Amino acid sequence: MDAVEVAVKTLEDNPLFNAGKGSVFTHEGNHEMDASIMCGETKMAGAVAGVSGIKNPVQLARLVMEKTEHVMLSGTGAIAFAKKQGIAIEADEYFFDEFRYNQLLSIRDSEKVQLDHAQTKKMGTVGAVAMDMHGNLAAATSTGGMTNKRYGRIGDTPIIGAGTWADNQTCAISCTGHGEYFIREVVAHHIHCLMLYKNMSLADACHEVLFNKLSKDKGEGGLIAVDAQGIVVLDFNSDGMYRAFITDKQEIVCSIYGD
Ligand code: ASP
Repeated sequence: MDAVEVAVKTLEDNPLFNAGKGSVFTHEGNHEMDASIMCGETKMAGAVAGVSGIKNPVQLARLVMEKTEHVMLSGTGAIAFAKKQGIAIEADEYFFDEFRYNQLLSIRDSEKVQLDHAQTKKMGTVGAVAMDMHGNLAAATSTGGMTNKRYGRIGDTPIIGAGTWADNQTCAISCTGHGEYFIREVVAHHIHCLMLYKNMSLADACHEVLFNKLSKDKGEGGLIAVDAQGIVVLDFNSDGMYRAFITDKQEIVCSIYGD
C-alpha cells in the first residue's frame, strides 16, 4: 500500500501530470480532483471525488479507507474530513499552471470536454500498481479529470472497479482515459472477472477489454496492471501512455508510445 501511495503522491506533486499540482481546469476555472486506492489482500478501498485544494488526493483516499467506514467521500464533506485529518491543503495559486490554463481557454466557449491524452504533450492521470514480497497487490489512481468539465462531473478514477481495482486472487489495475467509457465498461473489475471466471491471462483480459470493448465504443485510454504472479501489463488503445515499471531485480523499463 505504501509503495502505490508514495508513487502516486510523487506524481501528484509534479506539475507535468494531470493530478494534484498539475490538475486540469474545470469550466469554472477551478480544480476538482478524484483519487482512489485499493488493497488486494483485504479488498479495503478508499476514494475521494471532486475535491479542491487537497495537495495529495491519494493520501486522502487512503485515509478514507483507513479511518472511516466508507469507501468514497466527495466535495465539501471530503474536504472537511481532510481538515480534520490535518493533511496538507493548498491555495488556488498552488494549482495554477499556465499551460493548463491555456488548455482551458482554448475550449472554454465550447461544450467540449478534453481528455489530456488528446493533447500533443501526453501528460495525464497518474496511477501505480504494486506487488510486495508477500504477493500482496495494491493499486492507486489520481486525476484532475478532463479539461472544461462542469456540473461536478466525476470520472472513472475514484470509482472502485472502473478506474482502480486490486484483488490478490487476480490482479491490481489502475486506468487512465475517457472516464465515461471506463465507467460503462467497469474496466478494471471487468478484467478481474475475465481472469477469475474465464481463466484468462492478465494480458489477454486487458486486450479484450481495451480493444474489443472500449475501442469499439471509441473509448480512448489505457491501464497499468500486475497479476498475482507479478507479471506486468501496460496496455493502451491511445497513441501513447507515459509508463514505467521496476522489477524485483531493480531493472527499470520506461516508454511513451507503442513498443
Ligand atoms: N480517467 C480520467 C477521467 O475521466 C481522465 C484521464 O485519465 O486522463 O477523469
